[in-house]
Amino acid sequence: MKRLSRRTWMTLALALLLLAGLVLYLVRFALYSERWVVFPGNPHAYSGTHLLAGEVTDRDGEKLLDFSDGKSYSADSAIRKATLHLLGDRTGNVPSPVLDRYAARLLGYDVVSGLYGAQSRRGALKLTISARVQTEALNALAGRSGTVLVYNYQTGEILCAASSPTFDPDGSAPAESDGVYLNRAFGAVYTPGSIFKLVTAAAAIETLPDAQTATYRCEGTYAIGEQSVTCTAAHGDLTLEQALAKSCNCAFAQIAEQLGKKTMLDSVKRWGVAEPCRFDGVITPSGRFDPQDADQIDFAWACIGQYTDLVNPCSYLRFVGMIAGEGKAAQPYLTAQAGGYTAHTKNAPYRMETETARILADYMAYAAETVYGNIADLPVCAKSGTAEVGEGQPTNANFVGFVRSEACPLAFYITVEGGGSGSKTCAPIADRVLRACKQAIES
Ligand SMILES: [Zn+2]
Repeated sequence: MKRLSRRTWMTLALALLLLAGLVLYLVRFALYSERWVVFPGNPHAYSGTHLLAGEVTDRDGEKLLDFSDGKSYSADSAIRKATLHLLGDRTGNVPSPVLDRYAARLLGYDVVSGLYGAQSRRGALKLTISARVQTEALNALAGRSGTVLVYNYQTGEILCAASSPTFDPDGSAPAESDGVYLNRAFGAVYTPGSIFKLVTAAAAIETLPDAQTATYRCEGTYAIGEQSVTCTAAHGDLTLEQALAKSCNCAFAQIAEQLGKKTMLDSVKRWGVAEPCRFDGVITPSGRFDPQDADQIDFAWACIGQYTDLVNPCSYLRFVGMIAGEGKAAQPYLTAQAGGYTAHTKNAPYRMETETARILADYMAYAAETVYGNIADLPVCAKSGTAEVGEGQPTNANFVGFVRSEACPLAFYITVEGGGSGSKTCAPIADRVLRACKQAIES
């Protein structure tokens, strides 16, 4: 009797194990079957290296890529060049995370019938970008290396993610790589320079009780120990708002001293400044804000966007979007529709106090008004940065900002490598690209 009961238990345990295995399999099937079906070498999914079916369009339905008869890119070479880093090339040197992510949807796969009858369900992938804006951004970069990113800070849709240098996937292969295969919008990290002062200013507004009224004295240099932080000129007495508009290093060195490392590290973490963006198969590299072991002068430079600071354009755009969105950060995304599935707006898990975001937006509006001039006839809030990237090397020009308007809720990030002054080089690019975006939204 005792023996029988032990057998019963064992059978029951085995049955439970089997059930658990089945549940695990079904869960994994639901989650991953889309990826299983497009394993490399599946003859029902690929002919050689390209997919057997599907097409990719931009937000306006402009066809960017068609797999129905081989792999055909746009007929327009300017569009082919402007979208190369999103769609990949023919050789696989330029990857396309978004195509990899939605390959099964492009083929018409569904969970119930698999690839059976997929031909009739052939999927379309509609991207959020505008080919026209991408082309305009690439023209505005005019052959210089860099990136232009624009997204809707309320919904997260990316309208523009241009990367230069680029090449025509239907033309001759580039002579030397020169970073031509890299998608700078999603894959690069840059020294932020003064655009990082937005982070330091936000931390000051949030933690220093007199942040909005205190004044900081700039005599052109500010000594910390044996060394000093310098400005291009003596700026005199400045409020935080004026210090941001004039991008005064001496004022920000004093603010850094008041804030201290812990507050700055907490703020950078809370706002996701150095955290990757994950969407549509894309995972951007982490940024860097790493002053733990820095001495006082290096910590001051870290709060000015130098030292070892690095930002990924997409992650920093999300931070700018958080200021624009009154504290809420929309997660960027690239896919409007994939085989009938609509991408949803999702907020990133980072928050800034609403009041902090509003004050900072006012400061950025003041900076744009007094320093950068008219941009695309829009109410633009902005901050420029001229980033030192190494001794003897020309500075990178950086520019970030957003349009403070319900009708045109766009935030942007621009870097021109070796571009010199942030505002002089990038403000005209922002002007051209935002005009094109305005048209794309209105059409
Ligand atoms: Zn100064």
